[in-house]
Amino acid sequence: MSEGIMQADQPPERTGDTPDLFSKFDDTIKLREDLLASGVEDPFSLVMERVLSPTRAICNGRDTILLGTYNYMGMTFDPDVVAAGQKALADFGSGTTGSRVLNGTYQGHKECEDALREFYDMDHAMVFSTGYQANLGIISTIAGKGDYVVLDIDSHASIWDGCAMGNAEIVPFKHNDIAAMEKRLKRIPEGAGKLVVLEGVYSMLGDIAPLKEMVKIAKDNGAMVLVDEAHSMGFIGEHGRGVVEQAGVIDDVDFIIGTFSKSVGTVGGFCVSNHPKFEIMRLVCRPYVFTASLPPSVVATAATSIRKLMTAKDKREHLWKNSQRLHSGLTELGFKLGTDEPQSAIVAVIMPDLEKGAAMWSALLTEGLYVNLARPPATPANMTLLRCSLCAEHSDEEVETILGMFERAGKAVGII
Ligand code: PMP
Repeated sequence: MSEGIMQADQPPERTGDTPDLFSKFDDTIKLREDLLASGVEDPFSLVMERVLSPTRAICNGRDTILLGTYNYMGMTFDPDVVAAGQKALADFGSGTTGSRVLNGTYQGHKECEDALREFYDMDHAMVFSTGYQANLGIISTIAGKGDYVVLDIDSHASIWDGCAMGNAEIVPFKHNDIAAMEKRLKRIPEGAGKLVVLEGVYSMLGDIAPLKEMVKIAKDNGAMVLVDEAHSMGFIGEHGRGVVEQAGVIDDVDFIIGTFSKSVGTVGGFCVSNHPKFEIMRLVCRPYVFTASLPPSVVATAATSIRKLMTAKDKREHLWKNSQRLHSGLTELGFKLGTDEPQSAIVAVIMPDLEKGAAMWSALLTEGLYVNLARPPATPANMTLLRCSLCAEHSDEEVETILGMFERAGKAVGII
């Protein structure tokens, strides 16, 4: 054992009352230790040893059906997408080594933004290195001191972090509550700038926002509107533009935020807008300026995937069919779900507690099925959820196999 490791094992002696900065994590450490002591496998450390397709991987040496990815449209192994990435890697190298505003804008970044503009039929598109950074950057930059951000209390962490990073007043309202949102908006002082932040699909329960009503109220009250369509892009709406398209309000929203890490099948984030001054964001938005741009292979795969998603009507239809079948099948088996009707490709199964949830997660994995175990603070109302997200590439037979696995695991764990 080297001296360095010895030192790491033995923290330096404390002087006085200097606190251990890690003591704030003690509750979480204990929760994790208790969970592992109950004998279940660690749900947050699963390794996919090989990935066979958008819907199957080898986990713990066994062929496993994937029902907990955001690969909604199954684009990760699309031959055109893979070929575009390989070509860009060979032609442009492995990375840009710089910011978009310095040496990090290649032809591929422009082509990716062109594809987004066409996909949404909007004037401006700005690609970020992740969706998290897109929310962080746009929200913290456009809502400044003296402005107000009105947001759903169940908003994604990246939206909350964008609020925390900026200087605006933050006003949350009860999840999907139209009247509560209106009340908050009406209380904002005259003359203040207002930004309403909503999501198309809320990713924990898979429910959608009543955007038709909410966007109208926001506009009637003089607010700008930002909608995060991370979980609906490519799938919901006639052209896959999201819940804003389905609800007929796409022309009324000011900003759409999205990600490449779900239906697009790679990594990256973006904002599209028709605002005439939008391009100034490239100079003033810190999470865009002060980070390296996406590698050429990533923007090439994203652009190819986005263009294919424009015409992916058959895939959209099959994904709806899968979501509806899983939802009705689980309901018939007696599981409690996050929504009464399927509203998106996310079907959340509500567990009685973390212990049962982890046991069920483990039993499903032993059956050969991977789902997401979600717990607070990510989940609303302290819920433990087994989140299932479907893929357009799941076959009808796979969905039936999945239902059989849920039935056996649910009975073994005593949930149904
Ligand atoms: N918004 C929402 C609603 C999300 O669920 C996520 C990721 N799960 C993000 C933004 C961030 O996306 P990314 O993975 O590209 O950082």
